[in-house]
Amino acid sequence: MHPKPRGYWYLNFPLLLLLLWASACSHAEITPCSVPAITQGQADLSCWSGESLSLRGEWQLSYSDHDSDSLYDGTMLVPGRWSDATTQPRLSAFGHARYRLDLTLPETLQDQLALIMPRINSARRVSVINLEGKQVVLHDSGQVRGNNTLLATMRNDVILLPNFGMPFSLIVEVSSTSGRYGGMPAPPLIGKAENLQREIQARKIVAVALSTALLIFALINVSLWLARRKDISPLLLAILAACLAIRTTITSNAVYDLWPSLTVHFDSVTGWVVFMIGAMFAPVYFRIRYPHLVPRWLLAAPVSMSLIGFAALAFAPLIVIQVFGDYYRPVNAINATLVFLMLSVGLKTGDTELKVTVFGSALLCGAFAIDIVLFQIELTDRLVSFTSLAWLFFMATQTIFMSMRYYAAVQHSEKLTRDLVEMNTDLESKVIMRTAELEEKNRQLKKLAHIDPLTNVGNRRILEEAAQRELNRLDRNGNCLVIALLDLDHFKRINDSYGHSIGDEVLREVAALLSRNLRNIDVISRWGGEEFCILFPDTDQITSDQVAVRLCELLNKKEFHAGERRFFTSASFGLACTYHKRPLEELIKEADQALYEAKDEGRNRVVCYWEMADEA
Ligand code: GH3
Ligand code: MG
Ligand code: MG
Repeated sequence: MHPKPRGYWYLNFPLLLLLLWASACSHAEITPCSVPAITQGQADLSCWSGESLSLRGEWQLSYSDHDSDSLYDGTMLVPGRWSDATTQPRLSAFGHARYRLDLTLPETLQDQLALIMPRINSARRVSVINLEGKQVVLHDSGQVRGNNTLLATMRNDVILLPNFGMPFSLIVEVSSTSGRYGGMPAPPLIGKAENLQREIQARKIVAVALSTALLIFALINVSLWLARRKDISPLLLAILAACLAIRTTITSNAVYDLWPSLTVHFDSVTGWVVFMIGAMFAPVYFRIRYPHLVPRWLLAAPVSMSLIGFAALAFAPLIVIQVFGDYYRPVNAINATLVFLMLSVGLKTGDTELKVTVFGSALLCGAFAIDIVLFQIELTDRLVSFTSLAWLFFMATQTIFMSMRYYAAVQHSEKLTRDLVEMNTDLESKVIMRTAELEEKNRQLKKLAHIDPLTNVGNRRILEEAAQRELNRLDRNGNCLVIALLDLDHFKRINDSYGHSIGDEVLREVAALLSRNLRNIDVISRWGGEEFCILFPDTDQITSDQVAVRLCELLNKKEFHAGERRFFTSASFGLACTYHKRPLEELIKEADQALYEAKDEGRNRVVCYWEMADEA
């Protein structure tokens, strides 16, 4: 789990020296009466003051193997694993052992004494026998003589020693049927009950406080992840913090005070599960956070080994994962070191976040190393390990970074929203403007398509459309539709005499005069050149004839100017009419004939086609 502090040994080294010096100073005091070493299963504590004491040394051991007939009777070092012992015959991990230590206590010591057993993932039974052979069982996890030591309970209390008032023997029975490492991994602790109680209580409180802090970090990170699913790193950090919290609670034994029936099996499985989850997700976390520094291949080993480990845990006996762990741990340590080195490579160019992350990792390695060294010096675990404090620092800083990232993301998205709203508003006004422009253009186009630009009256198309509409509704109202074609007389002369622009002006004024003197429903258009066409809907022949004559007269009276000069003009009208729907071309043709007739008869007059037809 912990990367080796390769690049940072020079940081730890002075610290180590300092600690060694401090411990040397604390041991320098010469006590007149010191407790002799425990040898041959004998502990002469007659000089002991009652302070907490590790019962490490040579214990008597009677060992019988579960699988073979081999027996061993002799001495054995505590702490020590059976599999590490150099006895003959060799001891396997699967056996039943009876450790015995003869204790001589100081006669003056009146305090209640107690014992704390180390965490052993096997069945345990602790008893005492006095010189008279009286045996009292003080602690029994069950399964010491059973077939499945995994079913032994994990509960580990302070064991109160009876006051025999004379030398007695401490008997610790350990039985392992599935554990990889049978034996006593740490020495039992003897001391005044009050002190031991206080110490064990303090450890549990610290562990619970530590777990609570870690769980709070986990919850914060889960919330951050829920708020922004895009980034998975807070979730990974939450998983790591939760694993760490679970491990801390379990190793402090606090959980077994709540549930005393929990077994060795529970302890082992939970321990492995949280270890493997942590080992798998820690490099994934670093990879996701720093993809440019941590290559993908670095995830291969921890992820695949954890998956194999999970399969082993689910489908194979516990011993399989324990053996697998022998390979898993070193691979994991190498991998963690590589991740750490890769992160360190980015330090030169990295930001504060990376620097703090690398510092946090280095702190973890350093703290782990210091804890190991301190354990060697003090022979007991510290109340609060440096590793735990380093983890706390690491989790806290990472959680702060996660929160800062979330805050930045929120700010960014708010800015994006603001920009979007601004852009939308801008776009909307632009669309409105463009629509107005387009509408105006459309209006102009429509005008261009229907209005004669010179005279500003409708063109041929607008008249054709209007005529078609009127022709369609003719039969319904019984009225007739009259069409008048009008051609200015001798217009060429005007052009020739006064110039083309005056001719244009004449055309404009004629158009204006005609428009002014027509009804709203009448439609006038420039038919081409100096010709106009007028549509008289809902009228009769007489009225339309009268109107045409009136227009003809108005034109006669109209005075035109070319500079100082005045002149007049006239027009010839040809009228045609229909009561029924007929092709427009036919009607135009008739009006044209009438116009031709009007020209022919001397111009400046109105000729109606119907009269011509009547005459014919
Ligand atoms: P008539 O009495 O037989 O109609 O004789 P006219 O001279 O009016 O007829 P003609 O067809 O011989 O000549 C028409 C003239 O109208 C010729 C042309 O130059 C002129 N004209 C046609 N369109 C325009 C125009 O838009 N502006 C001007 N200034 N003259 C035009
Ligand atoms: Mg003409
Ligand atoms: Mg003409």
